[in-house]
Amino acid sequence: MAELIDGREIARQINAAVKENILKIRSSAGRPPRLVSLIAGGGEDAEIYVNMQKRTAGLVGVEFSTRTLGADISQDGLAEEIEKLNSDRDVTAIIVQKPLPEGIDHATAVSRIMPEKDAEGLHPHNLGRLLRRDADIVPCTPGAVMKMLRVRGIDLYGKEVVIIGHSAIVGKPLSLMMLNEMATTTVCHIATAKKGKLQAHAKGADVLVVAVGKPEMVRGDWIAEGAVVIDVGINRVGDRIVGDVKFSEAAEKASLITPVPGGVGPVTVSILMRNVLRAYRNQNVGV
Ligand code: NAP
Repeated sequence: MAELIDGREIARQINAAVKENILKIRSSAGRPPRLVSLIAGGGEDAEIYVNMQKRTAGLVGVEFSTRTLGADISQDGLAEEIEKLNSDRDVTAIIVQKPLPEGIDHATAVSRIMPEKDAEGLHPHNLGRLLRRDADIVPCTPGAVMKMLRVRGIDLYGKEVVIIGHSAIVGKPLSLMMLNEMATTTVCHIATAKKGKLQAHAKGADVLVVAVGKPEMVRGDWIAEGAVVIDVGINRVGDRIVGDVKFSEAAEKASLITPVPGGVGPVTVSILMRNVLRAYRNQNVGV
């Protein structure tokens, strides 16, 4: 039976370190770090994420506010709002909350944030730094996965890492981070599934990361004995939240596994706060 990787405990440790570091900088910086979440359209999912961000921000000493825009906002209108926050000296970091209204492109919006204020590490400048292996502000969910593996002492050198899902916010940046650790990295996606090769790839993984958004898609017989399984998925099924991995089956095969909820989710929010800390530190050098 697999051991759990407890995301809530890891998040607590990160939050404590972030809080301590913010306090140190604050004594010379004067003003506190401030994170602004831009919400357009909203919806229940956006509200859940924003509440989690707000709660964690409060724990670590980050001031948090939201700026809610109408669902009829245009791409240019959103860019103008971002511009205002870019030039506000009291704003340390900015998130453009997903989901956005139909027709508004998240990546385009994020590219208008100053890289120094890019809370989610998704600005092209910060993504480019991943390629150079000198990333400072990192994409939050991939950063969370890497942190969880590090905390559990998983040496990725030469390991077979299989990532299912190649989104711009999870799979793609994570694949670069894995390569940076010298893991032999395979990225699977919908074409892999259509060719019927998903299960064979998954079965070859020492470390399997799943980020597809399909409830319990990965079954126990996809997993090699002793593999590490990281389930990024968060799916609502009736009144339950489940991952992309069928937990009860996978736990029979894996050596280590993340639960959902209580796995990657809370660590992702803590990495977001660590990014705010880094932005705050960078904006207060020599103060
Ligand atoms: P996304 O943008 O929808 O991307 C899903 C990816 O999975 C795409 O690359 C897609 O490939 C691939 N995919 C879909 N169906 C597949 C299948 N049957 N076989 C293989 N690949 C398939 O989603 P995301 O934003 O990356 O999020 C993925 C999941 O993680 C969601 O459940 C989301 O809620 C969760 N999530 C959790 C956190 C956290 O903090 N824990 C953070 C972000 C996201 P194509 O593009 O080629 O179709």
